[in-house]
Amino acid sequence: MASVEIVEVGPRDGLQNEDVILSTEQKVAMIEGVIAAGVRRVEAVSFAHPKYVPQMADAEAVMESVPRSDGVTYIGLIMNWRGWERAVKAGVDEVNMPIVATDTFNRKNQGVDTAESIEVFGQVVEAGRDAGIGVSAVIAASFGCPFEGEVPVARVVDIAGKLAEAGAHEIALADTIGVGDPWSVEERVSAVKPVIGDVKLRAHFHDTRNTGIANAYAGVENGVQALDASIGGIGGCPFAPAATGNIATEDLVYMLDRAGVEHGLSLERLLEVTPTVAEALGKEVPSALLRAGTFPSPMEQA
Ligand code: MG
Repeated sequence: MASVEIVEVGPRDGLQNEDVILSTEQKVAMIEGVIAAGVRRVEAVSFAHPKYVPQMADAEAVMESVPRSDGVTYIGLIMNWRGWERAVKAGVDEVNMPIVATDTFNRKNQGVDTAESIEVFGQVVEAGRDAGIGVSAVIAASFGCPFEGEVPVARVVDIAGKLAEAGAHEIALADTIGVGDPWSVEERVSAVKPVIGDVKLRAHFHDTRNTGIANAYAGVENGVQALDASIGGIGGCPFAPAATGNIATEDLVYMLDRAGVEHGLSLERLLEVTPTVAEALGKEVPSALLRAGTFPSPMEQA
């Protein structure tokens, strides 16, 4: 049977782009909620400078308080070597480092060109080996850039090859600003796979232009092994003013459940968490499942 791993990124990519800053306790409650729903990989924190990302200023405190149960791994996002040092100290199990597909965006995000970030990535991979921490790369703006526009497939393939060569534990193609479509997913995934060999491939979609779930479908159909999603569909992107959040975890789970694709999460349990996240943020969240409910209804299923 087909299967795909779901990486819950709400606590990081979701919350990082919300105006309301949750308390450490609220973040930990959210993480506990998704774990209770079956999530086994959580992008929990970012080690970006608190001046730029105040929402993640308590990364260390969050990592101190999360449940360390068997089989759950916590991912911390890092931008540079300083972030790596903080991540190791905080005790994350994995790190994700974004490498933006365009120099302009990479400079705005990380202060250096793409090539320089790839070099740092290689150093982090080596350090990760010694520390026993998996180091993954996220190729941000893989489907389009808010500054440079269209991103050539060849550019993404070239970066992916270099990251695989550097020893990436996993490579993710991210549609950071939500401009992709299912056919471009097929095209880019098919082009990247041969150059990364047996390195695991993940995808990260935003639903900015209503193509997020369709893109997730295309990812699964074309052999993506893991998908990022955020509870409630929370989040956005600081470089794409109208960007909405990541695809909602519960919407993704609903689609996969209907198709019989295995993922290990419980939709019912997720739908218990979503309202608490909406309440904490003090706003409605994009989740379609929260609005429409599941089908068949839980009573019919019983
Ligand atoms: Mg994102």
